[in-house]
Amino acid sequence: MVDESADVEVIIECQKCGRVVGNIQKVLSQDWLVVNGIAITVMRGVCTDCGQEFHWSISEKKLAQLFTKEG
Ligand SMILES: [Zn+2]
Repeated sequence: MVDESADVEVIIECQKCGRVVGNIQKVLSQDWLVVNGIAITVMRGVCTDCGQEFHWSISEKKLAQLFTKEG
Protein backbone atom coordinates (compact mmCIF):
# COMPACT_ATOMS: atom_id res chain seq x y z
CA MET A 1 0.00 0.00 0.00
CA VAL A 2 2.97 2.27 0.58
CA ASP A 3 4.18 2.21 -3.00
CA GLU A 4 0.89 2.64 -4.76
CA SER A 5 2.25 5.27 -7.16
CA ALA A 6 5.54 3.43 -7.74
CA ASP A 7 4.38 0.86 -10.28
CA VAL A 8 5.45 2.88 -13.28
CA GLU A 9 7.20 0.58 -15.71
CA VAL A 10 10.31 1.84 -17.42
CA ILE A 11 11.19 0.03 -20.62
CA ILE A 12 14.87 -0.64 -21.23
CA GLU A 13 15.82 -0.85 -24.88
CA CYS A 14 18.91 -1.11 -27.06
CA GLN A 15 20.50 2.33 -27.25
CA LYS A 16 21.27 1.86 -30.94
CA CYS A 17 18.27 0.18 -32.56
CA GLY A 18 15.62 0.44 -29.85
CA ARG A 19 15.02 -3.27 -29.47
CA VAL A 20 13.32 -3.90 -26.13
CA VAL A 21 15.57 -5.64 -23.62
CA GLY A 22 13.33 -5.68 -20.58
CA ASN A 23 11.79 -3.33 -18.09
CA ILE A 24 12.52 -1.81 -14.72
CA GLN A 25 10.38 -2.88 -11.82
CA LYS A 26 10.55 -1.62 -8.30
CA VAL A 27 10.70 -4.49 -5.81
CA LEU A 28 11.48 -3.94 -2.14
CA SER A 29 12.33 -0.29 -2.82
CA GLN A 30 14.97 -1.33 -5.33
CA ASP A 31 14.90 -0.95 -9.09
CA TRP A 32 15.45 -4.21 -10.97
CA LEU A 33 15.90 -4.97 -14.62
CA VAL A 34 13.38 -7.70 -15.32
CA VAL A 35 13.82 -9.89 -18.40
CA ASN A 36 11.35 -12.71 -19.01
CA GLY A 37 10.26 -12.63 -15.40
CA ILE A 38 13.76 -12.74 -13.95
CA ALA A 39 15.15 -9.85 -11.91
CA ILE A 40 18.67 -9.29 -13.27
CA THR A 41 21.55 -8.09 -11.10
CA VAL A 42 24.28 -8.14 -13.74
CA MET A 43 23.79 -8.55 -17.47
CA ARG A 44 26.33 -8.23 -20.27
CA GLY A 45 26.06 -8.98 -23.93
CA VAL A 46 25.30 -7.59 -27.33
CA CYS A 47 22.08 -6.82 -29.14
CA THR A 48 21.29 -9.62 -31.57
CA ASP A 49 19.80 -7.14 -34.01
CA CYS A 50 22.56 -4.53 -34.30
CA GLY A 51 25.51 -5.71 -32.20
CA GLN A 52 25.35 -2.84 -29.75
CA GLU A 53 27.01 -3.69 -26.44
CA PHE A 54 24.69 -3.95 -23.48
CA HIS A 55 25.75 -3.83 -19.86
CA TRP A 56 23.48 -3.70 -16.85
CA SER A 57 24.64 -3.69 -13.26
CA ILE A 58 22.37 -3.06 -10.32
CA SER A 59 25.23 -1.70 -8.24
CA GLU A 60 26.13 0.93 -10.83
CA LYS A 61 22.49 1.84 -11.15
CA LYS A 62 22.26 2.26 -7.42
CA LEU A 63 25.37 4.41 -7.41
CA ALA A 64 23.88 6.62 -10.07
CA GLN A 65 20.75 7.00 -8.00
CA LEU A 66 22.75 8.13 -5.01
CA PHE A 67 24.17 10.97 -7.07
CA THR A 68 20.91 11.98 -8.72
CA LYS A 69 19.08 11.98 -5.41
CA GLU A 70 21.58 14.47 -4.03
CA GLY A 71 20.95 16.86 -6.86
ZN1 LIG B 1 20.24 -3.11 -31.10
